[in-house]
Amino acid sequence: MFKPTGIASKKLLEKIQLGIALDAKEQAHIEATKRRFDTIAKACQEKNVQLYIDSEDSFYQDPIDELVYALMEKYNTPKAVVFNTYQMYRVGMLDNLKRANERGRTLGYHVGAKLVRGAYMEKERERAEEKGYNDPILPDKEHTDQQYNDALRYCVENIDNMELCSGSHNEQSNYLLTELIAHHQLSRDDKRIYFAQLYGMSDHISFNLAHAGYNVVKYVPYGPIETVMPYLFRRAEENTSIAGQSSRELELITKELKRRRRN
Ligand SMILES: Cc1cc2nc3c(=O)[nH]c(=O)nc-3n(C[C@H](O)[C@H](O)[C@H](O)COP(=O)(O)OP(=O)(O)OC[C@H]3O[C@@H](n4cnc5c(N)ncnc54)[C@H](O)[C@@H]3O)c2cc1C
Repeated sequence: MFKPTGIASKKLLEKIQLGIALDAKEQAHIEATKRRFDTIAKACQEKNVQLYIDSEDSFYQDPIDELVYALMEKYNTPKAVVFNTYQMYRVGMLDNLKRANERGRTLGYHVGAKLVRGAYMEKERERAEEKGYNDPILPDKEHTDQQYNDALRYCVENIDNMELCSGSHNEQSNYLLTELIAHHQLSRDDKRIYFAQLYGMSDHISFNLAHAGYNVVKYVPYGPIETVMPYLFRRAEENTSIAGQSSRELELITKELKRRRRN
């Protein structure tokens, strides 16, 4: 797993998305970026591990998508090595996912899809308002949940050409995926379907899923302190929200302690 802007210039990606021509030096920089992406994907294929490429801000995601699809074309046969990330809080993201799969079918490669709800909502909304373009984020949580769950259904229905990693701490979405696996008569440890949670979060989901025989991944943040800190702050913000995961986890721990005291 890696964040594209760890090895690519945000500014240049933004320029490409806006259709601004790059000068020779910038073009050389982008070519070097492509080589870095390729080196990582090639090493993953050789080591037989999957590569999850994260998604960040919508305003430079298009050129990243193109880069990732070129890698899929090269490395995702006979199975998915490279996974793109689809943020389901974004307007039209299910259609993007469908287009990606259709392209994979046409060109003959498997599509690796990591689904997430998306972690940059406030920033996206503020920027859209400041610059005067349409909010790229769905109007409310219900719409995001709906699109996320529809995307899970789509991936499992198209599992002959897709591989799925569901990155979520949402109990309902995790439960839905277990139901879809059963409904489509797939085995719980089908190598094409993974559940993923962040290290230190939602262990009750990860451990129970793993115990029940599903494939589970824990994401461990790693990197230079100045780039990892904003990531940790975003998680802390998510966790301290009233409806957040920590309050839910604390509630479950308290309940379990009470149960043990009674026995
Ligand atoms: C393994 C893993 C990998 C991840 N990788 C990425 C990544 O590459 N890129 C990335 O952006 N994030 C990533 N995330 C974070 C993810 O996008 C979410 O922020 C986080 O998981 C919370 O969503 P949830 O599904 O777990 O739970 P929930 O608590 O059910 O959902 C919270 C999410 O719902 C959405 N939401 C909340 N309120 C609203 C609203 N008013 N309108 C619209 N939508 C709303 C937001 O996306 C919010 O984060 C990753 C998470 C995991 C577990």
